[in-house]
Amino acid sequence: MKILIYIEDNDNKINSNSLESLKAAQDIKTNKNGEVYAVTFNDSVANELTKYDLDRVYSFKDSNLDDYSPLFFIKAMEKMIKEIKPDMIIFGHTYQTRDWVPRLSARLDIPFISDCTGIKIEDDLKFIRQLYQGKVTADFTVSSFPLILSFQSGSFRADQISNGSSEVDSSNIDFNDVVNTIHPDEKFQESESEVDLTQADVIVSVGRGIGKEDNLPMVNELAEKLGGNVASSRPIVDSGWLEPYHQIGSSGQTVSPKLYIALGMSGAIQHVVGMKGSQNIVVINKDSNAPFFELADYAVVGDILEIIPKMIEVLDS
Ligand SMILES: Cc1cc2nc3c(=O)[nH]c(=O)nc-3n(C[C@H](O)[C@H](O)[C@H](O)COP(=O)(O)OP(=O)(O)OC[C@H]3O[C@@H](n4cnc5c(N)ncnc54)[C@H](O)[C@@H]3O)c2cc1C
Repeated sequence: MKILIYIEDNDNKINSNSLESLKAAQDIKTNKNGEVYAVTFNDSVANELTKYDLDRVYSFKDSNLDDYSPLFFIKAMEKMIKEIKPDMIIFGHTYQTRDWVPRLSARLDIPFISDCTGIKIEDDLKFIRQLYQGKVTADFTVSSFPLILSFQSGSFRADQISNGSSEVDSSNIDFNDVVNTIHPDEKFQESESEVDLTQADVIVSVGRGIGKEDNLPMVNELAEKLGGNVASSRPIVDSGWLEPYHQIGSSGQTVSPKLYIALGMSGAIQHVVGMKGSQNIVVINKDSNAPFFELADYAVVGDILEIIPKMIEVLDS
């Protein structure tokens, strides 16, 4: 089975969601006697990829690919797919993927199963995907290949990717026949205070159990002492206590940090879908029956208003 994975770059660095999806590609390779080829539009990312177990890295260099531009990206990917003839084309389910990959799928008439959260590798391959805001998990199979897949952030662990050594094949591409009718604006720049939580290693997340806005500074202090970032459930954002970009969940961000500390949150499904890929989950809640405890690696039953100051004290000592 031939697999082609697209690795997105963000400011000359590998996008972490793309990299995690490489683990999915490697799992299929191992079990289905496959080959994995990576393609990227950035030379330094291509060089960085050579340390992984890949059959080859393809890099396209052209000024039209320097910044996100869907029609040029599609053209480059179309060329790659026609050359390699993969059975599967894999993407991380990033914001860019959501924009250009459905168009790629339509252009090449290849089905696209988007936003998958896992794979079951049996005689057949089954692709796991959530439906109805995470209330139902469904297995999808296909009757024919090729197929395009994208994986949600946190579905696979980047630290489990097999290393190896591969070579880079750099090539140019003729874009003369691209009639570019889509001109993206300047890349959206988050304000200095905004943080891309999808890249955070440590997240201290606060829920309604914090009681009032005046109690938030202790959460900020705890996050700061742990070298982490503050996130929240939706009621905190709805109350206007934190900006919307802090919200984790089905209508917020999807994150997969090494450590997720949930403070005074019940564990509603709409929240959990956004953080269940976290590697270590600490839940602190005064209700021992809070559903969030089912997901916890470390569970603490107690009052966060007493526990947070004690954690800060310990970190200070
Ligand atoms: C369409 C839709 C989309 C949604 N999208 C999102 C989303 O993206 N993200 C999201 O988070 N939610 C989302 N929600 C809301 C979601 O359903 C829940 O209402 C929300 O996640 C609950 O937030 P919470 O856990 O902070 O509050 P609650 O459910 O009220 O839980 C508070 C918890 O704090 C505990 N607690 C109280 N005081 C203390 C204390 N002093 N010490 C310790 N524990 C204490 C309580 O025991 C309780 O378990 C969405 C809802 C809908 C309908």
